[in-house]
Amino acid sequence: METPSPRLDLTRRFCQLGRAHARIVATIGPGSEGILRELVEAGMSVARLNFSHGTAEDHRRRVEKIRAVSEELSTPIGILADLPGPKLRLGTIPEEASELHEGDRVRLMESPGPLPPGRIPLPVEGIEARLEPGHRVILADGAVELLVMDPDNSEGIPAEVRRGGVVGTRKGIHLPDTDLEQTVPTAEDVEGLALARELDVDFIGVSFVGEASELEKVRALAPDALLVAKIERALALTNIEEILAATDGIMVARGDLGVEMELEEIPTIQKSLLQLALRAGCFTITATEMLESMVTSSRPTRAEVTDVANAILDGTDAVMLSAETAVGDHPQAAVEAMDRIARAVEASQYYQDLPKVGFRASESTFSNAAALAAAQAADALGIAKIICFTKTGNTVRLLSRYRPHAEIVALSPDPRTLTHMTILAHVRPVRCPQLPTLEDMLEGASRDLLARGIVQTGEQVVFVAGVPPGVASSTNVLKLHCIGDPIKLA
Ligand code: PGA
Ligand code: MN
Repeated sequence: METPSPRLDLTRRFCQLGRAHARIVATIGPGSEGILRELVEAGMSVARLNFSHGTAEDHRRRVEKIRAVSEELSTPIGILADLPGPKLRLGTIPEEASELHEGDRVRLMESPGPLPPGRIPLPVEGIEARLEPGHRVILADGAVELLVMDPDNSEGIPAEVRRGGVVGTRKGIHLPDTDLEQTVPTAEDVEGLALARELDVDFIGVSFVGEASELEKVRALAPDALLVAKIERALALTNIEEILAATDGIMVARGDLGVEMELEEIPTIQKSLLQLALRAGCFTITATEMLESMVTSSRPTRAEVTDVANAILDGTDAVMLSAETAVGDHPQAAVEAMDRIARAVEASQYYQDLPKVGFRASESTFSNAAALAAAQAADALGIAKIICFTKTGNTVRLLSRYRPHAEIVALSPDPRTLTHMTILAHVRPVRCPQLPTLEDMLEGASRDLLARGIVQTGEQVVFVAGVPPGVASSTNVLKLHCIGDPIKLA
């Protein structure tokens, strides 16, 4: 049978209105803390604080500003505190020892440096005993690659330069083949977690996680936050199933991942990770260099626009900006660009035709069945809004996973639940009061959402709710409704 020929997709011209379904995470730094309101209006739904940079005071001040803008715009804004993790760094390298040439023999020493030329200072405790012949030692974000050689009787560990380049003091070290002591959370991470708790952030980015037990340790120190396992080590890929079972979400952290793996492996690893996470019920963030040229340029490159669009077609919940908004010259333009790209790709037939995940037998609950039924009913009837009441956010998380064409308006009286939902694709969290009966809830929501312009009179919607009202894990009602019709349940 002939397969249908691809056609030029021009649908987006006609339906670009409305909000983007993909979420935007923007890193807040000196370049953006003064324009938070503009960033939210441009489409940012989660603000990321990078704990590798800045002081506790900086983070406190930024959190205050984010909360003030959230209040002012009555929009929940998620806050993600990203821990530094065990990033290994070179010791002091004098100028004359900074250039390494392919084929050079060097010696790796456990030392803070400086050392004479030909010796590389690795200030990592116990490192010499752990490096074995054949291990790769990658320096300065991939600029230089060394291969550990058979031991000899001299001081330090011999290695050969496989890829030459320039290294410098405090540049990063990656040891993709070396079994290092379990290090997450590091002492610095533990301090960061105390601050994250004090600031009551919504999400914790767990850098360089390798196995599930590390996530459990972090969770014990930040029990109220959702965990984002940053997938940026080869070991995390090996242990991905157990990591997905232990985390709430993942970040495809392409920066460091691109050092541990070959760069050309990144596109397919990204696709696999996003699909595995979606199936496992974890939310996803695709990160790093998405609009990198906008650090200095007012417009993204064609390749960057295509990368953002493809991450959305790969199924990501959120796309992330790092330096673009933290220190870049055009932070607002970067968020606007992402929002436009998301809306364009989501209006296309390619997005509409993406395969949907199925019902997960391991989660055979009323909530999950109600979520699936709501998504299917909305798609079948071309309904644009699913209005879901939620105590914990769980039903909304399940609904988001089915990626209905509709937007999911997630109503909750609980501020924590609202901010936790800011990372989910297709979801718009809206605060609502806790009302005593189902009838009151549906009536109140219709009225409020009409007043806010989120729904229109005569529009069909799907309501998802639970009775008795206000109880967690009680989703058991699906009500098809036309806005403006009387709500009579008895
Ligand atoms: P980072 O994480 O920016 O904190 O290093 C993201 C990445 O490595 O891609
Ligand atoms: Mn990283």
